[in-house]
Amino acid sequence: MIPIENIIFDELHALLRITDRLWELMLAEIQENGLFNDLTRSVILGEMQRLKVSFHFWEDEKSHVWKYTSLMGDDKKTVLQFFNLKLLFKPSRAELIRKLWDGFYELYCALRNKNTDPAQLKQQSLEWLSLFLTPSQGNPSRPKIYVRGLYMPNQITPYMHALVYHGWELLEKHKRWGFKAFSCSAVEKKNHNQVSTFFRKTLKNGGDLLKRKSAIQEIIEYENRSLYFNYNVLSKSPKVKRIRIK
Ligand SMILES: [Zn+2]
Repeated sequence: MIPIENIIFDELHALLRITDRLWELMLAEIQENGLFNDLTRSVILGEMQRLKVSFHFWEDEKSHVWKYTSLMGDDKKTVLQFFNLKLLFKPSRAELIRKLWDGFYELYCALRNKNTDPAQLKQQSLEWLSLFLTPSQGNPSRPKIYVRGLYMPNQITPYMHALVYHGWELLEKHKRWGFKAFSCSAVEKKNHNQVSTFFRKTLKNGGDLLKRKSAIQEIIEYENRSLYFNYNVLSKSPKVKRIRIK
């Protein structure tokens, strides 16, 4: 067993999974209001186009549930920061959700910054959590004075708990290295590169089963060769001698 004091959560997955949750909650609200229709979907698609994020909706044939593209990290950051919620909600509502999304992005950036003051991060995290839990005011049956809050405690995910209650203490404990030193993003990137290389190569050699080595071996050999080229100064190959044949 790894002792608990040696465990640190991964900032990349905190970003990915918490963004997923905020996005789901936003869509769930539209659904709840009965407005998740073709028009809304096309507004979302248009906004994604403006943000240059490739995004699609499709309806699952059996369950009739609407599914959508799962975005990569950089696209998620773009949506989190710049998606215009006013296209989907009345201004006051859009501003409240935007404030929550911005607050999360700021928290994420503070977490990755080695120079962040842990005590300040703790304060900032707790404030964000209470914003997430903003209660409703008034009675929905009197819509004029009713102000809808944000979300419920049972909508908090384990990553949110880790970020809010443990982010600041881990930052303090590991300030020598910073959070980024433990990030999974390099490993994920490597995985992505390897998978792309694999598919590129499989398509190219046309599936010659006799010549094909195991995929893992092929990827590792390929990587080995490119690393060798990157780290070694290779002497230029001697000039090709011309041979004259009479
Ligand atoms: Zn805990």
